[in-house]
Amino acid sequence: MRRKLAAGNWKMNGTAAALEELAEIANGPEPAACDVLICPPSTLLSRAAEAIQGKPVSIGGQDCHAEATGAHTGDISATMLADAGATHVILGHSERRQDHDEHDDAIRAKARAAFDSDLIAVICVGESLAERESSNTLDIIGGQLSGSVPDSATGHNLVIAYEPIWAIGTGKVPTTDQIGEVHDFIRTRLERRFGAGVGRSVRILYGGSVKASNAEEIFAVSNVDGALVGGASLKASDFLPIIAALD
Ligand code: 13P
Repeated sequence: MRRKLAAGNWKMNGTAAALEELAEIANGPEPAACDVLICPPSTLLSRAAEAIQGKPVSIGGQDCHAEATGAHTGDISATMLADAGATHVILGHSERRQDHDEHDDAIRAKARAAFDSDLIAVICVGESLAERESSNTLDIIGGQLSGSVPDSATGHNLVIAYEPIWAIGTGKVPTTDQIGEVHDFIRTRLERRFGAGVGRSVRILYGGSVKASNAEEIFAVSNVDGALVGGASLKASDFLPIIAALD
């Protein structure tokens, strides 16, 4: 059985005051069947890692460089994330694909670096509205999966997050049929490439306008193993009910 995962992506939000929200999340009811992950901005990583010590919450980065060290001003390596207390890293988020021109081959190299540092890579895939409207969704997702997931992925070091770009921060959510179609497709692709054992153990998250009011319905869809939550992960009062819906 795959354990569920409730993951929060704080994006470029949060100063020291946000650690209080994290503490409230960490001190919430301990989930029995669900892991909890918060990915704060890198400036908060070390303090966040201290704040969750001994609590059933993990901390992750939002990106990493493909190399471990070097002359890359402004970048952070997987080694550094691990050193700061992260156990996970989000890779290939659509905001990075768009704003930083990240392509599948770069994401694959970053994922390899994450694995080398014993981080779990949460690799994001998702189609634009134009791609969905031209019935290209599964082609796009298939291409992103084969391009950005390294061959060395396992059920332990890989999580996939399906995030339709048009659903991120918009309040628009795909129908449960649309979510189910993509999640089943991702599962089939993973099984075909990595074999049934690995393919069935990788968790597949849904992301895009998840909130307490739609969480139950989304989590009931087959092959949805949790959520990658943006806006509704910033406040404990919004995120705790999402964790409860998964648990
Ligand atoms: P929202 O939950 O704010 O739509 O963001 C989703 C997301 O991009 C998480 O990575």
